[in-house]
Amino acid sequence: MSLITDRRTILGSAASLGLLGGVFGAASKGRAQSDPFTLGVASGEPWPDGFVLWTRLAPRPLEPDGSGGLSGDIPVRWRVANDPQFRQVVARGETVAPDRFGRSVHVEVRGLQPNRDYFYHFEAENVISPTARARTAPAYGDRVSKMRAVFASCAHYERGYFSAYRHMAEEAPDAIFFLGDYIYEYSYTGDRAAENVRSHDRATEASDLAAYRNRYALYKTDPDLRDLHRMAPCFVTWDDHEVQNDYAGAWSQNMNPGDAEFAVRRRAAYQAFYEHMPLRRRSIPGLDGGVRLYDRFKWGDLAEFTMLDERQYRSMQPCPRTDDAGKVTSRRGRTAPLNCPDFSDEKRTMLGAEQETWMAQGFSQQTAKWNIIPQQLVVANLLQTISAEPGSPLGYFTDGWSGYEPARRRMIDAIDKSKVKNTVFFGGDMHAYVTSNIKTQDGRTVAAEFVTSSVTSDPAPDHLNNAPKDNPHILLFDNSARGYISADITQARIDVRYQAISDRKLKDATVRTHRKYVVEDGKPGVQTA
Ligand code: FE
Ligand code: CA
Repeated sequence: MSLITDRRTILGSAASLGLLGGVFGAASKGRAQSDPFTLGVASGEPWPDGFVLWTRLAPRPLEPDGSGGLSGDIPVRWRVANDPQFRQVVARGETVAPDRFGRSVHVEVRGLQPNRDYFYHFEAENVISPTARARTAPAYGDRVSKMRAVFASCAHYERGYFSAYRHMAEEAPDAIFFLGDYIYEYSYTGDRAAENVRSHDRATEASDLAAYRNRYALYKTDPDLRDLHRMAPCFVTWDDHEVQNDYAGAWSQNMNPGDAEFAVRRRAAYQAFYEHMPLRRRSIPGLDGGVRLYDRFKWGDLAEFTMLDERQYRSMQPCPRTDDAGKVTSRRGRTAPLNCPDFSDEKRTMLGAEQETWMAQGFSQQTAKWNIIPQQLVVANLLQTISAEPGSPLGYFTDGWSGYEPARRRMIDAIDKSKVKNTVFFGGDMHAYVTSNIKTQDGRTVAAEFVTSSVTSDPAPDHLNNAPKDNPHILLFDNSARGYISADITQARIDVRYQAISDRKLKDATVRTHRKYVVEDGKPGVQTA
């Protein structure tokens, strides 16, 4: 079956297989009141003999208490088949959607064949979920000739429709990478809401478990996002807006309320993230509220993905704003002058000591053709004017990698020292397409970097489009388009397409290729296509 036929079958099967309560002999409760699968289904983190299957039962997804309209633990059945009609079921089981995690379901399926498509669904409350496609990874070390990966970040629900997600699904990727800002905690209010195409539920800022849950629930009821998850397994990391704008490690951007209150908020946000993503057991929130996200994933001999977490363990932001008496008033990101002493403080970290060591060890042991680093920020050094005024002095934005220069340099040195081949970064956060060569201190290119623009979020400030003038290693900074990145990875090269949607305000926006790049095996850095 071709991928396109698969896709039609999958998306068409929503109607035919979506609600077959009668098949199991139970009386239908009526879909409008009781469909527990309003948030859709998803698969994630594929390995050679399986993947995670995810859903969360929520017949009333925006119930104010965050319960989804159910209480207690709920039994759930799941099935995996060779075919979308479930004639050949190859794995099945029963589990419980626990009250403790908002009735989310995380099943780790094992015993499947590597490098092939499977179809799955759930059954709960006498309702069968939509059918979806998952895919196992190729066996470790097996020769793999090609893989298609798509990358997205920054999807503020209020600012546009998720057409980029629809077009990503149409590419029938092998894997989807979400690079952060999958939700936004804040809502537009007053004059700023004038350009909204739709609103968050009750248009508040999420800060407790019920509100974070309902924010994910709202996003996941979007049909384009649900269909994307039904097309392929995903890998996820987060950025700031899954918790709060510009938070850093244990520190809020705000001085008020204090850090103890922020710890409670962060814990709630992390739990809601776990509940809504197809993550393995290692990501279950720990006693300290932490969620382990960083990991490496192999795709046969073709690629190894080193997925990073650049929020949870980082140092406080450098040189925060102060009042005249020198008292810190806000830790929110800003463009600080070059003489900020924190910029050169070697003790400051982006990844935390443990992740940094883990990353460097991984690089030194790599054997795959491509060393791919999906993460949430722009890695390229980004000198920028402090204001949009002509003649403004230059500085660094304190929330990005440029605000953590010694840590950035250590990461680049780890790549350089390990002689790891063919490193490519994919990033997000910037709300612009950015293409760069990543260089060592002495000016050698060791990696290419491709940063995806936002799915819907507002563009980066216009003056940043001049970034290549002050940063010759940055080949493109373009805030003009919203969209995603598609990458066709082969043994010889990676073909990268910047896929731009026509208009975020249109439900049926079209897509076009905005820019194309190539990275060739054995040649570090970007070649233009
Ligand atoms: Fe964003
Ligand atoms: Ca961000």
